[in-house]
Formats: sequence, C-alpha cells, structure tokens
Amino acid sequence: MKIYSVLLVLIFTSLSFCLSGCFKWSARAESKLPKETALHKTYNYGGKVIIVGAGASGLAAAKVLEQNNIEYIILEATNRYGGRLKKDTSLADFPIDVGAEWLHSAPITLNKMKGKLGDEIDEELIPYHLDNTASWDGEEYTEDPHWQNNFMYKFLPESKFKKTTWYDFVDENIAKTVKHKIQFSSPVSAIDYSGNNIILTTKNGNRFEADRVLVTVSIGVLKSNRITFKPEMNEERKQIMNSIIFHPGFKVAMKFSEKFYPDAINCKVENGEKGFYDIAFKKDAQTNVLGFLCTGNETQKYYDLNSEQEIISSLLQELDQMFNGKATASYSGEYILENWGQHQFTMGTWTQAFQQKNSELKILNQPLDKKVYFAGEINDTYQQMGVPGAVLSGYHSIDKLLTDK
Ligand SMILES: Cc1cc2nc3c(=O)[nH]c(=O)nc-3n(C[C@H](O)[C@H](O)[C@H](O)COP(=O)(O)OP(=O)(O)OC[C@H]3O[C@@H](n4cnc5c(N)ncnc54)[C@H](O)[C@@H]3O)c2cc1C
Repeated sequence: MKIYSVLLVLIFTSLSFCLSGCFKWSARAESKLPKETALHKTYNYGGKVIIVGAGASGLAAAKVLEQNNIEYIILEATNRYGGRLKKDTSLADFPIDVGAEWLHSAPITLNKMKGKLGDEIDEELIPYHLDNTASWDGEEYTEDPHWQNNFMYKFLPESKFKKTTWYDFVDENIAKTVKHKIQFSSPVSAIDYSGNNIILTTKNGNRFEADRVLVTVSIGVLKSNRITFKPEMNEERKQIMNSIIFHPGFKVAMKFSEKFYPDAINCKVENGEKGFYDIAFKKDAQTNVLGFLCTGNETQKYYDLNSEQEIISSLLQELDQMFNGKATASYSGEYILENWGQHQFTMGTWTQAFQQKNSELKILNQPLDKKVYFAGEINDTYQQMGVPGAVLSGYHSIDKLLTDK
C-alpha cells in the first residue's frame, strides 16, 4: 500500500513537472522569443518595397521600412487596417475585440512587439484565470470543478487587455507611424515577378512596380488563388499550403440585462472550437456581454441558417435550454457578429504555425526568386500564436527581404 502511494506521488510529481514545463511552453514559448528584432537594426536598402496587406504583420514590417526611410507602400484590399484585429465601441461601455482577443504568449512578448527593451510592461493586463466554467454537450450542462480551471491556467496562462484591445495595441505601437502609406481598397490580384521589376496588379486594374514584395495575406487567401503568381509557386509549396487547416468561423457578442451565465461554457464539438464566454470578464464594465466563438465543422450548421437574426435566435435557444429561458428573457436585442470565415480577404479564423513541421515552415518562408517574400501568422518561426506570431514574423521577413543578397 505504502509503495503504491509513493509510486502515485512520484507519477503525479513528474506529470506536474512535465505539464508545467512542457505545456507552458506551448502557450508562452518565452524562450523562443528573439533577443532583438529588425526594429533594433539599421538598413540601407535602396530599392522600392510593396507590402500586400495591412494586418498586424504587414504593419509591423512597414514600421521597419518607415524607421529606415526606405521607399514603400502598403496595398490593402479593404477600406480599413488591422486585418483580423478589429474593435467595437458601439455595443458596450468597454471596447470589444471583434477579432483577436487574448494574449496567449507571456506579457514580455508585448515589449518585443513594440521594440521596447527590458521586462517592464506598460499595458494593464487581466490574467485570464477563470473562476467558474461549465461544459455543455447539447443536452447536459455540467459545472466544471475548480481544480480544472486552476490546472488550465497553469497549463495555458493567458491574459487580456484590461481597458483596451489588441487593435488598440497594434494601432498605437505599430500602425501609427505607417498608416499614411496604406492604399486602401486595393485588392492585389496578380504578382508577376518574371522580369527585373515586380509588377502587381489590383482587381480594379491599377498597376504597381516594386523591387521586392512582402505578401502578408492569410493562408486562406493564398490557398484560394485570389492572387495569381507568375511564375507559379512550386508544387511542394502549394501542397504544404493546401494541407494547412484554416477553420471557418465567426464571433458574436450579445448584450443582456442580467448576467445569468458563468465565466465560460465550453461546448462539445468534433473539431475546431465552440464556446460561450463572458467578454466583460474582469473588465471595468457595467454591461453584460456574452461572447460566442465557433470555428470548425460546427460552423456550417450556423452558415446554413438564412440570416444573422436566425443565428442569434438559435444561440438564444441553446442558452435557454441551459438556463431555463433566462437568455431570451434578458436579451437586449443588441449584438455584433463578425463572420471571419466568409470574409473574402480573410477566409478563415486562425492557424498555429508552431504545429507545422520545421521543414514545412522553412519552405513557406522561402522567397520566390529573392523577389517575393512572405510574412504573417502562418510564417511565424518563434513559436508564438496569433498576433504576436504575425508581428514577429513581419519583423523577421522584412529583415530577410532587406538583407538578402
Ligand atoms: C475570431 C478570431 C479570434 C482570434 N483570437 C485570437 C486571440 O485571441 N489571440 C491572438 O493572438 N490571435 C487571435 N486570432 C488570430 C489573429 O487575429 C491573427 O493571427 C493575426 O491578426 C493575423 O495577422 P496577419 O497580419 O498575419 O493576417 P491578417 O490579419 O489576415 O492580415 C492580412 C491583411 O491582408 C489583407 N488582404 C487580404 N487579401 C489581400 C489582397 N489580395 N490584396 C491586398 N490586401 C489583402 C487583409 O484585408 C488583411 O488586412 C484570432 C482570429 C480570429 C479571426
């Protein structure tokens, strides 16, 4: 009996050791962060650069060009910058992240992203350590035990901005100095790098020339062939791109008069994610806003409905089942819904580059003839997730673009 208990303690201790060590790695990868980025270097490149896409990655790369007085423009398909970063200030008394919301990496990553040296963080963050959560399998609602939440937080320590949003962070620290160089409503449809100069054509027929190009569109857009490359990309690269899962999905925020829900409800799905969560969690907020995030196969069920109103009704019905009609009774009628999976210039939600094989990442990061370079969330080589990965990849790829001989 004694030996059995000692064995159990040993197994438990080594498991905790592995979990806190290895799994924290997947969330933080702090040790993988670069010591310095292109923001700390100087370049004297004399050519003209065009960046395709004004998301977090394209804006970050532009910041380096701006600092070094290099000639460049950013061609952005839509009429706004930020890409999958967006904020809403109309629904609640605090700004809501309509796209990226959590900082999955260690807080120090924010300093790396803005080029600040040292460990002191300027941003006020909320540790995303949930107190009460539940699970829902479509029929049964079960409260999760507290140890599970404590364990999850140790396992995936995350945070959120207390008063601001991801969009604000990138706007203030990156976009501010480069936004005057964005040409909006310029969806690039062709990149011809067969000659000395690279010719970019937009859907509206405009033509631009550059010496080097940095493409930062999502993997969904690249896979869709909305941008044609001349010469074409090689088969190996195309195969890797096509094998990357970029789930469809959407995000909803609904306002209620009563907070009848817990911090989060995790719903059972085959793949991707589906869950309700308190968007106002530990924010300075009086408004009750419940978020809903759905990605993967389950998304189709909602896409098959005819309108946003039908999606909202279906979500209310599901919540009513869990909470005895309280959702419909306290729903204000106000919501926001952002359908990232069907945005023609996003075509999905997110990918995790650290799940790709190193050999595949290497190929995805190879330039085409040292003329066309790639950056963005899927090109991240620092094993971060989402926005940090996109920004750091922007710095990494622009460094390569400016120094490749
Ligand atoms: C619902 C949702 C929740 C998320 N949650 C988180 C989170 O909590 N934390 C986190 O870190 N990350 C999260 N992410 C992922 C994060 O938003 C992305 O990793 C990051 O914003 C990607 O930045 P990017 O610059 O690589 O790409 P994008 O943001 O996609 O930027 C690409 C830009 O290129 C433009 N573009 C596309 N096609 C063309 C074209 N043909 N010509 C010109 N321009 C074009 C697009 O309009 C866009 O502005 C989330 C994403 C979604 C959708």
